[in-house]
Amino acid sequence: MSVSRREFLSVVGAAGAASSLPWITARGSESRLGGTPARASHLWRGPGDLIRLDSNENPRGPAPAALSALQQTFDLTGRYPDAAEESLRAAIAAHHGVGVESVLLGCGSTEILKIATEAFTSPTRPLVTAAPTFEVPTRTAQRMGTPIRAIPVDASLRLDLDAMLEQSSGAGLVFLCNPNNPTGTLHGLDTVSRFVRDVQSRAPDAYTLIDEAYFEFADAPAYRTAIPLALASPRVLVSRTFSKVHGMAGLRAGYAIAHPETISRLLPFRLESGISVLAGAAAITSLGLSAHVRRQVALNLEARTFAMDAMRSLGYRVVPSQTNFFMADIQRDPKAFQVAMRARGVAIGRAFPPLSTYTRISIGTLDEMQRAMTVAADVLRNS
Ligand code: PMP
Repeated sequence: MSVSRREFLSVVGAAGAASSLPWITARGSESRLGGTPARASHLWRGPGDLIRLDSNENPRGPAPAALSALQQTFDLTGRYPDAAEESLRAAIAAHHGVGVESVLLGCGSTEILKIATEAFTSPTRPLVTAAPTFEVPTRTAQRMGTPIRAIPVDASLRLDLDAMLEQSSGAGLVFLCNPNNPTGTLHGLDTVSRFVRDVQSRAPDAYTLIDEAYFEFADAPAYRTAIPLALASPRVLVSRTFSKVHGMAGLRAGYAIAHPETISRLLPFRLESGISVLAGAAAITSLGLSAHVRRQVALNLEARTFAMDAMRSLGYRVVPSQTNFFMADIQRDPKAFQVAMRARGVAIGRAFPPLSTYTRISIGTLDEMQRAMTVAADVLRNS
C-alpha cells in the first residue's frame, strides 16, 4: 500500500515530520533546490557534528585521485555509461587476473546479492544464511516467498558452517559472508574450500555466494580470497564492493567474480546501466591505488585497536574483528544504547537479533573514536 506525502504528514504531524525526519524535509524542498546545489549538499550532509559509526563506511571517503577522476568526468555525465561500464569491467578483470566474462558489475554489491537470490532461489529452492549476517539475501528471499534457513552464529559469534552445511540439502543459494557483518569474524580459505566442496556433494544444485565486502581489512594468515573457488566451479560466486575500504558507499559500485556460465545466468537480472560514469571513473582509479588501500587498512587498524581497548577497559567483552567495525557485549539492550548514543551525537549500529546484548560500532577516524568512546563510557556508566 502506498501512502501519499500528504496522508503521511497528516498521520505524523507536519511539525514533527519537519523536525525529526530530514529526508521528508529534503524531499519537500525539492522544488526549491533547482539551481542551488549548495542547498542540496547541505540537506544531505546531516548535522555537521554527528559522528557516524553506523554503516561500516570509510570515514575518509574516496582517495584524492579518485575524487579528481570524478571531477574530470563531470562533463561526461550527459552520456550513458556503456564505455564506463566496459572499462570498469576490464579493469576489475585485469586487477584479479580473470577474463572479463568472469566479472559482473553491480550497483553496489547489494545488487549482486539481490540478483543472486532472485536467480538461484525460489519457493521450492531455499536460501541458507546466518543469523546475524548481512540481510540483503534474506530480505530478497522474503519478498520472493523463498523459504529461509537462517543458522545462528556459534558461541564465539562465528558462522556455524557445520549447521549451515547440514541445512543446505535442496537449497538454491548458500550465503557466506566472510568476514561476516555484523560479527567481524571470518573463516580461512581451507575451511571455506572444504565447506564449498561439502555443500556441493550434499546439494549439487545449490550456489554458494561468498561475500568479501571487507576483504581488504582482514589480515588473519589463514584468510584468502575465494575467487579461485569461483573460477573453478560454476556453483560458486564471490562479491566485492567499492563501498568499504575504497570509501565510495555513496557512488554505488560493486561486482561479482564467477565462472562465465554463472555470470550469464545472472546477467538477465542485472539493472542495465547500473554504474554511473562517476562511479566508474572513481572505481577504476581507486582499484589501482594499492598504497592508498594499505594506508586505509592501517588507519582502520589503529582506530579499531584504540576503540576495542577502550571498550575492554570499561569491562566489556569485545569480539575479535577482521573488519572496519566490531561488536561488544554491553550486557544490555543494544537498541537503548544506540538511542542514548545518538542523543549524544554518535550514530552506531542497531540491534542484530538474535544477539540481544551486543552492539556494533563502525570504525571512524582515530579522533572520532576517541570522542565516541568518551561518550560510550559516559552512557554505559549512567544507564
Ligand atoms: N555485503 C556486506 C557484508 C555489507 O556489509 C554491505 C554493506 N554494509 C554490502 C554487502 C553492500 O554494500 P554495497 O551495496 O554498498 O556494496
